Amino acid sequence: MAAQRADGAPQDDCLFCKIAAGQIPATIVRETETTVAFRDINPQAPTHVLVIPKAHYRDAAELATAAPTLAADVLRESQAVADEDKLESYRVVFNTGSGAGQTVWHAHAHVLGGRGMQWPPG
Ligand code: 5GP
Repeated sequence: MAAQRADGAPQDDCLFCKIAAGQIPATIVRETETTVAFRDINPQAPTHVLVIPKAHYRDAAELATAAPTLAADVLRESQAVADEDKLESYRVVFNTGSGAGQTVWHAHAHVLGGRGMQWPPG
């Protein structure tokens, strides 16, 4: 049987769907018709903002495949967050899969900045 195509429908058990719906509080820094940006609860840099699509896709790969226009919205908003915080340099990270450190299964971009960074990342 073919895998069901992701349709972006909200998931009852998803933390970030609840934040997008205003059911769980978060420090929201930007909101558009399709995206929400809010401060990470456990910041790893002076600026650490998560940018999510309001629609539910489990990770960046699924988002890019099923909803490429929405993926572009997330990238555009990531840059808008960096502009608002006046970051000359910043990092946008999509942890994709548990081996890469993904712990919340709703696609999100981490926007990190305000300190020096190393490469390669840990
Ligand atoms: P991941 O590890 O999936 O790439 O990133 C998930 C991020 O969500 C982590 O950086 C974590 O600190 C953040 N996070 C987890 N729970 C909450 C929450 O309830 N509120 C906020 N604002 N961030 C959260």
